[in-house]
Amino acid sequence: AAVAVPALHHGPGSTSDGHPVRLLLNVGGPLDDVVDAEGVGLFRTEFLFLDRTEAPSREEQRRVYGEVFASFGGRPVVVRTLDAGADKPLPFANSDDEPNPALGVRGYRVARRRPELLADQLAAIADAAASHGTDVRVMAPMIATAAEAREFADLARSFGFSQVGVMIEIPAAALRADEVLAEVDFVSIGTNDLAQYTFAADRVLGDLGALLDPWQPALLDLIALVAEAGRRAGKPVGVCGEAAGDPALAPVLVGLGVTSLSMSAPALPHVRAALREHTLAECTALARRAH
Ligand code: PEP
Ligand code: MG
Repeated sequence: AAVAVPALHHGPGSTSDGHPVRLLLNVGGPLDDVVDAEGVGLFRTEFLFLDRTEAPSREEQRRVYGEVFASFGGRPVVVRTLDAGADKPLPFANSDDEPNPALGVRGYRVARRRPELLADQLAAIADAAASHGTDVRVMAPMIATAAEAREFADLARSFGFSQVGVMIEIPAAALRADEVLAEVDFVSIGTNDLAQYTFAADRVLGDLGALLDPWQPALLDLIALVAEAGRRAGKPVGVCGEAAGDPALAPVLVGLGVTSLSMSAPALPHVRAALREHTLAECTALARRAH
């Protein structure tokens, strides 16, 4: 028994009958511990931009991204481009006089006003990836339409990235997932914001916790729509919001057709163990029951 329990907590993610599910990490800086994960599914880059009056230079970004990539030991990394605004405001990127910052110029939308911020960041990420030999993919936050996805994909590919994705965290993008997926190589569902925008419930208000619960059937409906579009397109659909780290929900997400789950390091062994307790057919049955 001393051997059987740890076995559930190591190795690649899969259901008990061998259906693979990539288990990835959410990080906001370098890793200071060894974590048993296949790679990084969400590298939040905001840490480098906080408490500043201007964006860090391209050279500084290149150096810091390089240090972060080195700490992952050569595993693939999905870098999310700057998600400034709303719960992550930055003085040089966002405006103070928006009455509703969560509905304002945030995430990818900032690139319209400050295109050089995104261009500098993509250049720095590409340089750091090349000098460390890391398999780096990039994805944009807060994409609402297929046109925005195409615009970001064109830009990212012009910097040499061959794997380009977008986050699905706005209901409009989930409803039009086929068109969005046609423009990119993968998508990752940000359930924190997707719940906020689906239920018109501010994600930072504890009072609205019941509406923001990732088990809400309407949220699961949207995740199912995106996963089905991913299956049609033959492209990966991940979840990287807090929902991905819930061991009870993980089998449901896999049953809906999600192909990777990205979460904080402490959640990973629990999610891995939970998936190994179910066959894919059982996950599908759980998903049907949940929404
Ligand atoms: C999300 O919105 O679910 C997400 C993963 O991004 P963030 O929490 O950084 O907004
Ligand atoms: Mg988000």
